[in-house]
Amino acid sequence: MKKMLSFTLSILLVLSCAIIPASAEGFDSFGAYEHVFIIGVDGLGASFDKIDSPNFDRIFADNAYRYDAHTETLTVSAQNWGSILTGESFDVHGFTNDWCKDNERDSGYGHNTIFYYARKAFPDAELVSFNNWSPINHGIIENDINVRKINRGTDPLVVDAILQYIEKGNAPKLMFVQLDSVDHAAHTYGGYSDRYYNAAKKADIFLGDIYDAIEAAGFMKDSLFILVADHGENENGHGGTSKDESSAVLAVAGHSVNKTVLNESVQNRDVSAIALYALGIDKPEQFISSVPGELFGDSREKTVDANPMPDTEKAFRKFLYFFVRMVNLLVGLFDK
Ligand SMILES: [Zn+2]
Repeated sequence: MKKMLSFTLSILLVLSCAIIPASAEGFDSFGAYEHVFIIGVDGLGASFDKIDSPNFDRIFADNAYRYDAHTETLTVSAQNWGSILTGESFDVHGFTNDWCKDNERDSGYGHNTIFYYARKAFPDAELVSFNNWSPINHGIIENDINVRKINRGTDPLVVDAILQYIEKGNAPKLMFVQLDSVDHAAHTYGGYSDRYYNAAKKADIFLGDIYDAIEAAGFMKDSLFILVADHGENENGHGGTSKDESSAVLAVAGHSVNKTVLNESVQNRDVSAIALYALGIDKPEQFISSVPGELFGDSREKTVDANPMPDTEKAFRKFLYFFVRMVNLLVGLFDK
């Protein structure tokens, strides 16, 4: 009798130790961020794996990244930016470059973007999108949800506008940026040209400039900072299914982000799920993107420090240990 009771109690103790830390220490980053910044570089692909990218390294080497996340199977800009912003596959949302140039849209017709869900969750929040290639602001992002849309014709002008915007004290809940000169270089000189790689190096400098401005403004303590590409390039540009065209960098930095190389199954459209998750917004039913399981976690000291076990769970664990010890004591007494 005593043996059986002790055995049962031991099992209970083991279970309580196994289950409680899983929920208390297995850090849950849902809603752990006040701001999400998404820097999109058109045509960047996996090129940072081939060139020196010191700004990428200093921002993401201690966080989570993958050089060759999967793109949509159609490696065209609107199809991929559409998926990155809507969490749907390209053949479902249906955005094409031409459609986005020629059409604008309001919300309520389906295929809503993460801006739509951010607006629903935060009615008064500042939401902003900076484009060099304006069809994203024009055709993909809804017109009736009060997103500040800023278009500039070159990457340096886009970056200038961002730096001024941050310096002025704006605090966006969600910011999206699209830089275009890397893709432009591939179209003009080919995706394996020196001009292309030089443009990618310049994009790394822009990335550092934007990150430093956000950091200097004090945002990084509670912001998620994401870099993503829509597609890569080969010697003819893009649009096909080659490995270089269908690889795109995806990198994430933030206080609860694990230092890890993301799983090989990760997709550039996962940015949509990651952004909403970080802001504490439930994933819409139609999203086929997801938060990589290894992205957020408790394997980093900074994560554990930032997220101590809640007092109620500490008390519960103490109570369980006390309870089991008392029962064991009583069993021992009666057995004598
Ligand atoms: Zn292009």
